[in-house]
Amino acid sequence: MSVYLDHAATSPPRREVLEAVWPYLTQVTGNPSSSHEAGRAAKAGLDAARQVIADVLGARPGEVVLTSGGTEADNLAVTGIATANPRGRHVVVSAIEHPAVLETALALRGDGFTVDVVGVDGDGLLDLDALAAVLRPDTTLVSVMYANNEIGTVQPLAEISRLCRALGIPLHTDAVQAAGHLPLDVAELGVDALSASAHKFGGLRGAGFLWVRGAVPLVPLLHGGGQERGRRSGTTDVASAVGTAVALHAAASTREAEVARLTGLRDRLVDGVLAGVPGARLTGHRTRRLPGHASFCFAGVGGETVLAELEQVGIVCSSGSACSADSDDASHVLLATGLDPDVARTAVRFTLGPTTTAPDVDAVLDALPGAVRAASR
Ligand code: PLP
Repeated sequence: MSVYLDHAATSPPRREVLEAVWPYLTQVTGNPSSSHEAGRAAKAGLDAARQVIADVLGARPGEVVLTSGGTEADNLAVTGIATANPRGRHVVVSAIEHPAVLETALALRGDGFTVDVVGVDGDGLLDLDALAAVLRPDTTLVSVMYANNEIGTVQPLAEISRLCRALGIPLHTDAVQAAGHLPLDVAELGVDALSASAHKFGGLRGAGFLWVRGAVPLVPLLHGGGQERGRRSGTTDVASAVGTAVALHAAASTREAEVARLTGLRDRLVDGVLAGVPGARLTGHRTRRLPGHASFCFAGVGGETVLAELEQVGIVCSSGSACSADSDDASHVLLATGLDPDVARTAVRFTLGPTTTAPDVDAVLDALPGAVRAASR
């Protein structure tokens, strides 16, 4: 049985999600757009799921657009809001965005947009003065992630929101890593759009949503039957939506206790690694980070080699983001925090979740010094 410490890549579906989804795969199988009884039953399930998601966000159900996951939600937010906004053709993103936001924003250059990429400090916190300096009368969107997948740093969204609000600029946040772990009340966060991906908080892979404040215009990416109030065509996956709602609700109901539990485990892991592994350094902010996120660099060793050593003793983790795990290139996130490319290539990330126990952390603390030693030979 392996020790699974890669919950930021994906977290197993919760049992109650599987139980809730099953009837929607076997009995309630109509198309929610159909007017007959089977369709109405599916629509009732969909409406209930949307209401649950909206309640967790403190939003209206009609503002929730169900998508195929975080990537689609990010693409829809960035392209959809930036293009619909008549203010102009200028977009601002942070330098540590997931490629689903960063690449989407950069692709807008092909449509005549100017894109400003704002830097972060050594802990991965956004440079607020630099943000304020690039905002313009023709800025159509600012997108800054809630919490980073590689280094766990949580951004000061309320402060970022104040800067944007003062100028009437919509603010989108990629909350893919934050959802399930951090508060999601959109009014308190002060954001105008928020993306989430269900499999990061115990829902199903290939499902997620974009919440967009009612007054914010959005151009759809997918054209067709006009589902999701015309913002995302295609027959809605009712079972996945039900799973997303059940997972989000379960995560929200247990969040405070789980955050305390994970923070305790994380801090023991961080302190133990920094004390027990020569040359180890934490990446990201020491305290303003996701509760279950511990990421490190190890002087002089390849992160991938450490991973392979750990896997031999049954510990599964990651070298950074799952998406760039195949690439030799140093992570753009670690480079943005000022790390040297050679150091950035030594990244190892442990991400804890609902299945993580104290013995899992002990296993890492036992095995890591030897794994790093072996990797440096
Ligand atoms: N944004 C962030 C911060 C992520 O960590 C991920 C996935 O790891 C995504 C977006 C994309 O989510 P998905 O792969 O579920 O589409």
